[in-house]
Amino acid sequence: MLNIVLFGPPGAGKGTQSEKLINKYNLTHISTGDLFRKHIGEGTELGRTAQKFMDEGNLVPDEIVIGMVDDKILSTPGTAGFIFDGFPRTIAQAEALDALMQKNGTQIDTMLALEVPEEELIKRLLNRGITSGRTDDQDEAKIKNRLGVYNKETTPVANYYNNQGKLNPIYGVGSIDEIFNNLSNVIDKHI
Ligand code: AMP
Repeated sequence: MLNIVLFGPPGAGKGTQSEKLINKYNLTHISTGDLFRKHIGEGTELGRTAQKFMDEGNLVPDEIVIGMVDDKILSTPGTAGFIFDGFPRTIAQAEALDALMQKNGTQIDTMLALEVPEEELIKRLLNRGITSGRTDDQDEAKIKNRLGVYNKETTPVANYYNNQGKLNPIYGVGSIDEIFNNLSNVIDKHI
């Protein structure tokens, strides 16, 4: 199996690049943000709980996120591998993911970390708010809160993977294809 963590702040291009990577490498995309939005759309209890946190731009509690990822992994047997997008966002989630991988007899092979300056992220997110209708992308105060949460709670996750020798920073500004090639070059070393 080939299991990749695609890391980076909101607006770094994780969703866009994941779509291209899953096609090229035949992987299963696990975006926790997308899974929560699906639950919200379907009106599930998990969705209602998650929405309260998402509306404020705060993280959904670890046990809810981890349980949802566990379910998704279990419901995708026989896949060639996973791309985790927007997960893990805390050290507790990173530890839980290692345990989930181990339980399934596999491991995280590499972390690709997209790096984008904050002014560019704010510009991209406000723009996405217009085109996608995502309410958490439409309010600059909420966006700034999400970036603050990212800096405080999520950046330590990069160190967690760095300590395992798995961190690969990739500059996330440029053409989509150029960035995709840089990501693919790192992945190709792991297959
Ligand atoms: P995203 O689509 O990845 O930007 O996620 C949208 C929102 O969903 C975030 O602002 C969080 O409220 C929530 N969320 C997504 N993934 C996670 C996660 N791994 N841990 C906690 N909250 C998450």
